[in-house]
Amino acid sequence: MTFRLQVLGCGDAFSSGGRLHTCFLLSGETNGNGLSPTLLDCGATSLTAMKARGIEPAAVRTILITHLHGDHFGGLPFLLSDAHYRARRTAPLTLAGPPGLRERLRQATEALYPGSSRRESAFDVEFLELHEHRPAAVNGLRVTPFEVVHPSGAPSYALRVEYGGRTLAFSGDTEWTEALVEAAAGADLFICECNSYDRPIPNHLNYRELLTRRHLFDCRRMLLTHLGDDMVDRRCLEIEALAEGRIYNI
Ligand SMILES: [Zn+2]
Ligand SMILES: [Zn+2]
Repeated sequence: MTFRLQVLGCGDAFSSGGRLHTCFLLSGETNGNGLSPTLLDCGATSLTAMKARGIEPAAVRTILITHLHGDHFGGLPFLLSDAHYRARRTAPLTLAGPPGLRERLRQATEALYPGSSRRESAFDVEFLELHEHRPAAVNGLRVTPFEVVHPSGAPSYALRVEYGGRTLAFSGDTEWTEALVEAAAGADLFICECNSYDRPIPNHLNYRELLTRRHLFDCRRMLLTHLGDDMVDRRCLEIEALAEGRIYNI
């Protein structure tokens, strides 16, 4: 059994340190069956990230979205445009995320490329709304959302993603909330946002508060992401941070 995460982007909204917006590629195999390529978040720079790493965007079958901010879902209009005009995609695509994803994506697509949201598509896009605490079966994955504290015009989630007996938990963006403890409980890998070192930033976490609460997370391994300027140059952190391009076994 394998369940792998490749980091395509782990930056914050401002691409601090030159990092790309949040985008993780999940892949795996269990009992001889492969997990179809899945993205966890698709920030504005994700199409660039995929092409830079030699990943064919049209091969992605499923995209999970934590919340409706541009650095987490803003890559979708570009990915859909690439699928339509360049890849001439015919395979279906599943987009799973908070209620309101379909309409926000339509608005974003229309703002960037007027008329494009009404174009005829040769492939089906299935929208799947995720609801707080309700596990959903999404193309071979079990996905459970936990609502976090991060205003985005729709519920913002931490996601628990299970496959082949392994569990990945991802905080999405949030300030401190007990929901993170629940989302990370028993996880093999917990990826947590950490936007600043000790400076409180509204609706985000900082390293100092995570360190004081590290013992609350019952996870096998914890890694940080979404680092701001004052975090990217820090070395010798007690909690390791994700590195772009790296592959992690979950
Ligand atoms: Zn973000
Ligand atoms: Zn956000």
